[in-house]
Amino acid sequence: MSIAPEELAAEIRAQGLIVPTAVSGVVAQGRGFAEVADALVAAIRRLTAGVGEYLRFGAVMPRDQAVAMRYFANFPQLLGSIHCFCGSDAEHRALLRAHDAGEPWADALPPVELVLTPAACYPCYAILAARGAVPAAGYRLQVDATCFRHEPSDDPARLQSFRMQEVVAIGQPDAVVSFREHWLAASADFLARLGLEGDVAPADDPFFGRAAAVMAKAQRERELKFEWRTPVSDAARPTACLSANYHLDSFAKAFGLRFDDGSHAHSACVGFGVERIALALFRTHGMVAEAWPVEVVDLLRLEGTPRADIR
Ligand code: ATP
Ligand code: ZN
Repeated sequence: MSIAPEELAAEIRAQGLIVPTAVSGVVAQGRGFAEVADALVAAIRRLTAGVGEYLRFGAVMPRDQAVAMRYFANFPQLLGSIHCFCGSDAEHRALLRAHDAGEPWADALPPVELVLTPAACYPCYAILAARGAVPAAGYRLQVDATCFRHEPSDDPARLQSFRMQEVVAIGQPDAVVSFREHWLAASADFLARLGLEGDVAPADDPFFGRAAAVMAKAQRERELKFEWRTPVSDAARPTACLSANYHLDSFAKAFGLRFDDGSHAHSACVGFGVERIALALFRTHGMVAEAWPVEVVDLLRLEGTPRADIR
């Protein structure tokens, strides 16, 4: 029943599971796909339920936090910025005149205090920092967000807007590193129970500009990032469905997350890419979720999609 990675894009479109739009990497999910994605979100929330406080974020976060985290510096090519019209009646009329005359008008929409959330854990650090000194035992969280990255692509596994769920630890270095190890292993085990075959490999992030190669090399040497990968849409290039990151004290320093003695906390997170895992499931088990192996259907508590709804 499994499908060759190269055939996945055509097959999921033929089945109406994913409906492309005019923009690469921006898609609508058909009912069958959306049900699996929602079931995955719920199953991941159950898996990680004991971790700690749960926070679901939307698609936007404060601009100054993304600046503090240096996202604009390290990944300017991926960052989405929110711009809104905040002007007067007269400025509105000028905007319409410019538009109707075919002249540039976007300057009338200046950047506001928001950017699109690039990763689910990003908005949580400022919230915790506002609570005062980091408790000796640190913080543990589950977070969930709709993320945006400007990386237009026709690869169904590389979207511009996608859901990410993460578990996050903030605390002493050894504690957050063991948390990352534990959750990478537990999450990989969860994917194995879903019938997915993959491997864990060291990884780096797509830093921008001249310093990119140096930063990526340092990230690998310091073992800051690991990914669980499986062939999804390209047999030769497996896709990262899980990422496990150790941020050292960089995010804590950006937001002043300190223990009582003034020392900075460290942080780590493990993130699930919901759409990528859903795609891996469709590729591995076939296009009709109700026909998937019973243990997968049970683990996801899939209610089943009437066949009539699947074109
Ligand atoms: P890649 O190397 O493929 O660009 P990444 O390592 O940059 O991914 P992270 O920044 O670690 O990804 O994001 C955490 C998780 O979010 C990834 O493991 C993946 O499952 C998911 N993800 C990241 N980028 C995308 C995307 N463009 N479309 C869909 N899911 C994504
Ligand atoms: Zn994170």
